[in-house]
Amino acid sequence: VEIDLVKFCSELTEEMQLSDRNQHRINFIICSNCFGVSASSVRAYMDEKLLRHIFSNLLSNAIKYSPSDSAVQFRLTCENDYAISQIQDAGIGIPPQDQKLLFDPFHRAENVGNIPGTGLGLTIVKNSCSIHGGSISVDSEVGKGTTFTVILPLNYQSKIHE
Ligand code: ATP
Ligand code: MG
Repeated sequence: VEIDLVKFCSELTEEMQLSDRNQHRINFIICSNCFGVSASSVRAYMDEKLLRHIFSNLLSNAIKYSPSDSAVQFRLTCENDYAISQIQDAGIGIPPQDQKLLFDPFHRAENVGNIPGTGLGLTIVKNSCSIHGGSISVDSEVGKGTTFTVILPLNYQSKIHE
């Protein structure tokens, strides 16, 4: 289906902000020069269900693994028919030895302490990205924060129906 990716992401950001009892500042940032003059909407053929799996899990992790008064950045840009999104937090970070294993079911990093979780969110995210023809990567430093980068084609559905 055709969706407006900017609208989808900003509504999801608002939804996450409202449900966040710890009051992080969740900022949705569109890299407007990548979209030309109008960055207020981006038409894309994408699967909303998969997008929701991906971004709600990444945003809830960013919220869960960072201090309650810190900011979470959700950035969106487009390049060559791909949407590039980044979810960045200033949280606990992920030890290097855990970074390769994060997407395996039930794997949790050694520094989670008593923060609750089952270790399944990122497995769902990774699978959703690959079903959607995209990819995900992580960049993180313990004690500094974490950035997940997701690259997804803007024309997923149209490819399927061709
Ligand atoms: P749930 O299944 O409820 O999402 P979870 O959050 O533990 O549980 P994942 O979302 O799959 O599971 O994440 C796997 C692990 O990766 C986490 O347990 C945590 O160690 C680490 N992790 C994920 N996101 C972050 C983040 N933004 N900052 C720090 N660590 C993270
Ligand atoms: Mg999670």
